[in-house]
Amino acid sequence: IVLKSIRTFSQLAELKEITMKRDVEEPLEIMGDEERLQQLMVILLDNALKYTQETGQITVSCKREGNWITIIVSDTGIGISQEELGYVFDRFFRGDKMRSRAEEGTGLGLSIAKWIVEAHDGKIRVESKEGAGTSFTITLPAKS
Ligand code: ATP
Repeated sequence: IVLKSIRTFSQLAELKEITMKRDVEEPLEIMGDEERLQQLMVILLDNALKYTQETGQITVSCKREGNWITIIVSDTGIGISQEELGYVFDRFFRGDKMRSRAEEGTGLGLSIAKWIVEAHDGKIRVESKEGAGTSFTITLPAKS
C-alpha cells in the first residue's frame, strides 16, 4: 500500500520538481482495510504535494517496531503555524492565509485521515514548523 502510493505520487511530484524519497522496510503488512489505508496515504501525500513549493522534498518512511508499524510522511513545505497546529485534524479546518485561496480544498482530508487511523486502533500526530515543513507520524498495528 505504502509503496504503491509512493509510486503514484512520484509522478505527480515530478511535475513540481519535488523530490520524493522513501525509506521503507519490507515486508510490511498492516492489519486493516486496504482501501482505507490507501485513502490515508493519498490524503497525506496529496497535502504534502499541495503545501510544498517547487524543488522541495517529500520523504516517506515506514518501519516495523514490534507489533506496530510507523509511517512518517514529511515535507519541506510551508509548514503550519503553532496556533493552527491544534486544529488541523478538525473537520472543515483550513489554514488561514493565502495558501487557502491559492490551493483548493475542503478541509476534510485530515479529519478523515484521523478517523481512518483511529478506526484501525492507531495514532496520528503532527509536527510542523512554519516555513520549514511538516511531518505526520502514524502508528498502526502490524499483521502478526
Ligand atoms: P482537502 O482535505 O480537500 O485536501 P485541505 O488540504 O485544506 O483540504 P486538510 O487535509 O484537512 O484540508 O488539511 C487542513 C489544513 O491543514 C490545510 O488547510 C492546511 O492549512 C494544513 N495542512 C495539512 N497538511 C499540510 C502540510 N503537509 N503542510 C502544510 N500545511 C498542511
